[in-house]
Amino acid sequence: MQTDRSQQLFERARQRMPGGVNSPVRAFKSVGGEPFFVQRAEGACLFDVDGNRYIDYVGSWGPMIAGHNHPAVLEAVVRTARDGLSFGAPNALEVDMAETIARLVPSCQMVRMVNSGTEATLSAVRLARGATGRARIVKFEGCYHGHGDSFLVKAGSGALTFGEPDSPGVPKALADLTLTLPYNDFDAATALFDTAGDDIAGLIIEPVVGNANCLPPREGFLQHLRELCTRHGALLIFDEVMTGFRVALGGAQARYGVAPDLTTFGKIIGGGMPVGAYGGSRALMERVSPAGPVYQAGTLSGNPVAMAAGLAMLELVQAPGFHAALEAKVHALCDGLEAAAGAAGVPFSTQRVGGMFGLFFAPGPVDTHAGAVACDTAAFRRFFHAMLRQGIYLAPSAFEAGFMSSAHGEAEIDATIAAAETAFFAIRD
Ligand SMILES: *Cc1c(COP(=O)(O)O)cnc(C)c1O
Repeated sequence: MQTDRSQQLFERARQRMPGGVNSPVRAFKSVGGEPFFVQRAEGACLFDVDGNRYIDYVGSWGPMIAGHNHPAVLEAVVRTARDGLSFGAPNALEVDMAETIARLVPSCQMVRMVNSGTEATLSAVRLARGATGRARIVKFEGCYHGHGDSFLVKAGSGALTFGEPDSPGVPKALADLTLTLPYNDFDAATALFDTAGDDIAGLIIEPVVGNANCLPPREGFLQHLRELCTRHGALLIFDEVMTGFRVALGGAQARYGVAPDLTTFGKIIGGGMPVGAYGGSRALMERVSPAGPVYQAGTLSGNPVAMAAGLAMLELVQAPGFHAALEAKVHALCDGLEAAAGAAGVPFSTQRVGGMFGLFFAPGPVDTHAGAVACDTAAFRRFFHAMLRQGIYLAPSAFEAGFMSSAHGEAEIDATIAAAETAFFAIRD
């Protein structure tokens, strides 16, 4: 495999960009080695600057649910761009977008568009604080909600331990307002709300965790959180930046039948452009400026080209049977990988939820953050590179979900399983 041009680019990049990248996980630090530089992407595949082709299960970290460079999305972007790239004044596509989200996700009667998932979650938390007049928020160990200060908090040893900042630059005084809980632990959540419930503005959760491998909620867990929040007057915030339009057309809230007070979106709703959104009931959303006093704004928010890309993508995911077909492919892939691991005698398991999946180097099923952390990350690292050498691109971290797209066909899935049969044997010693 030729890598000269990627190596040269990475060398240059490291001179002028921290770590050579604009987002940390791209740097391959947790798997070792150096990243490849992408020349172009098409359907299920990435092509790097050295001419290598990869079957891609990262999908730009989620947006590319219809495959890369889908002609309908590309066409919408090009057509819209011809009329101007940004107006800083209202445009019709913003209205179409808000109506589309409200129709697909009924808990969102009103929507505010922003430019990233990070902006969506930090705005939603501001709104939760503004609406309740309370300061504390609750998050779960291993859940990622973007890089806002309040979310960069490591779990303490117990549910009631005050948060410790995960990053220099996050003031302790702010981190103290973030309480953390173990995911899928009913009793810890009850205990925390019994103690601090009346100070909690909101609880934010990835309803299916996709940033600590892929962890589905236990039966009734999301309902339990819904009841705790309602009882204590805290807002339930589903961060559906990843799960929205992926685990079901209506997101995790549709799949599990639990309606949150606020929802955050990103990734798929931008179709590959930088977009985020948050939404909720009319009563809550009318507290956002200029309708209400909770301030939040954005020069490029609701950008016409980004709205056009997102609307085209949302059109594609509404095709009849779209999610059922995606889910069937995830099962075919994960069944094949489990069989290949079994044949090689490698302890391995998977989790699958709609169009996303997790690979665990441990006997399963794993559905807790502690379980995900306990997996054999060294085995994952070897597997990642053994797959990459065969042209299969998995997320370069043991703690990320995998993403299927509608552009992945039987040929790609069979090729992936065949590569895994080789890789599982290769990594045994
Ligand atoms: C990706 C992600 C974010 C952050 O979105 P950005 O657009 O990267 O800022 C937030 N929450 C979840 C669940 C995500 O997966």
